[in-house]
Amino acid sequence: MVLGKQGAGKGTQCVRLSHHYVVPHVSTGDMLRAAVKSGSTLGLKVKAIMDRGELLGDDIIMEMVAERLAEPDARARGFILDGCPRTTTQAEMLAAMLEPLQLDLVIDIEVPTSQVLKRLASRRVCVDCNTNYSVSAPPRVNWTCDVCGGEVIQREDDTEEAIRRRLELYERETAPLIDWYRSRGLLAQVNGSGAPDAVLRRIVRAIEQRRSQGAPHR
Ligand code: ADP
Repeated sequence: MVLGKQGAGKGTQCVRLSHHYVVPHVSTGDMLRAAVKSGSTLGLKVKAIMDRGELLGDDIIMEMVAERLAEPDARARGFILDGCPRTTTQAEMLAAMLEPLQLDLVIDIEVPTSQVLKRLASRRVCVDCNTNYSVSAPPRVNWTCDVCGGEVIQREDDTEEAIRRRLELYERETAPLIDWYRSRGLLAQVNGSGAPDAVLRRIVRAIEQRRSQGAPHR
């Protein structure tokens, strides 16, 4: 599972990790954006909450995650969980859901808030496949996604106000998970500054280190 502030590069690193280890990338943000795009009643409700930078209810999120993790690819290969859990309640629900197994490792990508704010302001995303870009590293052709040809735009929840609210909720609801997972022997903290390739190498090193040590005792 990958933890980190908004704009710490979680999404980008999770996509890369998912290719590196050939394991499905399960992102609650991407699943919710797909629900919004479908135009369903649930999608409309979800959109209003996301645009304000608020968190969705724990039950709805964990139901969605449980369904996704029950699919054959995740059962066979495992998963890289991105954007969940975000609250202690979600972490408890996830632990109960995975019993008798547990997460192999929780990676916390550390980036100072000043840097995260800059990254969020220049973040752009493909509306179709969710690939992330930035104003300083745009797609090759005219804001058209290099991966799928979709339109690359600024996310509607990347407004100054919604960003402020998301970071506030991160500090209040999500940051406590760092100690929660540390006390369970599952945490690895990785420096998230610098080029994405360098950050990925640090994450892979942390995973390999854990693999060579074996799973923590419960
Ligand atoms: P970011 O990390 O930039 O906030 P995400 O794509 O992970 O972006 O999430 C976007 C929005 O989706 C969040 O602001 C929140 O409204 C909702 N969301 C995603 N995951 C969760 C979760 N685990 N619990 C509650 N709300 C969530």
